[in-house]
Amino acid sequence: GNAGGAVMALFAVLLAWGVSRRIEGPEREIAEGIRKGQFIAYYQPVIDISNGNLLGCEALVRWRKADGTIISPAGFIALAEKSGQIYDITRSVMKRGREDLERVYEGRPELKLSFNLIAGHFASFDVINDVSTVFADSRIRMNQLVFEVTEREELPNIARARVVIARLQELGAQVALDDVGTGHGGLSYLLKLGVDQMKIDKMFVDAIGTDRYSTAIIDSLVRLASEMSMDLVAEGVETQEQVEYLRAKGVRAAQGYIFAPPLPAKAYAALAEAMCPL
Ligand code: C2E
Ligand code: CA
Ligand code: CA
Ligand code: CA
Repeated sequence: GNAGGAVMALFAVLLAWGVSRRIEGPEREIAEGIRKGQFIAYYQPVIDISNGNLLGCEALVRWRKADGTIISPAGFIALAEKSGQIYDITRSVMKRGREDLERVYEGRPELKLSFNLIAGHFASFDVINDVSTVFADSRIRMNQLVFEVTEREELPNIARARVVIARLQELGAQVALDDVGTGHGGLSYLLKLGVDQMKIDKMFVDAIGTDRYSTAIIDSLVRLASEMSMDLVAEGVETQEQVEYLRAKGVRAAQGYIFAPPLPAKAYAALAEAMCPL
């Protein structure tokens, strides 16, 4: 009767409420974080291991909650990709990069600043507008910027990705293929994209001195990079043995905890000033 219908209706409402809270709860929290400017960047130095010079840094997003807690990308990136909020977060990270480093980078044109993009960024031209908008009248020059695309995810449209990469390069920026060796793209993929730089995944760096197969992969990346005149960056470098191996192979650029972890803006800016006196 009437009472049964009302109970059913109430039940349906409660169920919908519960489901929406479950699905939208974290998404709403991210939206609020975006609105409140809680998505900031840390900066991990990249070092020239042939001479110890600072080459620049990679911006790595962090979620700084109202209570000061710092959340790493593993805690929100996958969800933000699914919800599409990663595009707003990426714009926030680029704006932060500009604000945080403009003063230090202005007089040091040799320093680079890398940002991470997702495969979806290479499926439309929106990212070109974002980059132009954030950096057009900035004291950081376009040729100080590097955009990283991971080899882990497959690009939905290679032809389009090529054009987006070419546009970024026309603006003066460089494009890097991240996590090389972890994807299924293979060599032909790499050649098709026309990137300027490859980043050797930590997995292979970890294997130095322990796994001949992985070090053989590093050796072949070194040869490939030199033949295609691409820059190579080794990531996740943690030991002196790894530094020496990479140096002996002619790898110039490296980042990892042996040099520095990702640093808050002020700490990285101070490091850059100390390492690159004007
Ligand atoms: P990634 O681009 O491969 O970044 C390198 C990750 O390795 C960073 O983790 C960094 O903190 C960590 N790392 C660096 N050196 C070492 C080391 O010597 N040892 C170890 N164990 N780890 C090291 P993080 O900051 O947690 O970022 C994780 C991933 O999240 C990044 O991997 C990147 O794929 C993604 N990510 C970070 N920031 C952004 C962003 O702004 N946008 C997008 N789309 N993705 C981002
Ligand atoms: Ca990266
Ligand atoms: Ca990487
Ligand atoms: Ca990696």
